[in-house]
Parts: sequence; C-alpha cells; structure tokens
Amino acid sequence: MESKSCKEIFKKNDIKATKQRELVFQLLTDSDVPLTAEEIYVKLMEKEKNMSLSTIYRILDVFVSKGLVQKSNITNNKAVYEVLGMGHKHHIICISCGKIIALDHCPIQEYEKALERETEFNITSHKLVFFGYCSECRKKSE
Ligand SMILES: [Zn+2]
Ligand SMILES: [Zn+2]
Repeated sequence: MESKSCKEIFKKNDIKATKQRELVFQLLTDSDVPLTAEEIYVKLMEKEKNMSLSTIYRILDVFVSKGLVQKSNITNNKAVYEVLGMGHKHHIICISCGKIIALDHCPIQEYEKALERETEFNITSHKLVFFGYCSECRKKSE
C-alpha cells in the first residue's frame, strides 16, 4: 500500500480527491498511532489554515464509510482513527487518559503461523490491542 498514492487509493474507493482529504489521509498513513480528529486538526493547522474541525470530522466519516479508516472508541469521550490495511501495528492504550503507544513489533507472528497449521486457515490479518493504565494515571490514582 505504501507504493500507492493517495489519489490511486481514493480512485479505487470512489472517493473524490481533494487537497484536504489527501492531507488528512497522508497524516493518518504516516502516523504510528491512531489519531483523534482534534490531533489531526492541530497537526494540519499549519499546512491548511482553512480546515475546520468539522471539516476533518466530515472527511473522516467519508473514509470510515468507505472502509479505508477505522474509528475506535478508546474512552467515553475519545475516538481515534487509523488507516486500515497498512501492514499492521499494535498499540497499548491507557483507558484513563487515552494515551496510545505503538508497539514496535508484532508479538504473535509465531502464534499466527501455528494457528494456520492447526486450523488450515489462510490468516490474512489480526487485531491485537492492549488496554490498561499508564504510569502517569497510576501515579494520580495512588
Ligand atoms: Zn493514562
Ligand atoms: Zn501483529
């Protein structure tokens, strides 16, 4: 997927390419961790001053409806967005403050191979997310 440009991906998914959509998609693609709409807004503010937060929500909704981007609710008031099908990354998420850290390797590749042998499935993807409390939140609750 890295070799494909935004434009090709948009075309394939029947999404009209606009500069703002490309900026949002590129940012999500380049990010190691899922981002909230607010984080996208802040990061893009320098490049694209005219883009409002509601525009970003609309753009994200389009991506989600086309299956390009996944929306996940981490805490009650925090939803994050990540591009689907980009190799894969695993995350550990603080369920109190919503902090997300990307793991630098996949811990279950061996297990996946064993599972394929066992089940005769051709496994094409998996999801694995860890949830808990980060060190700062643990300090606060002590
Ligand atoms: Zn935390
Ligand atoms: Zn993995």
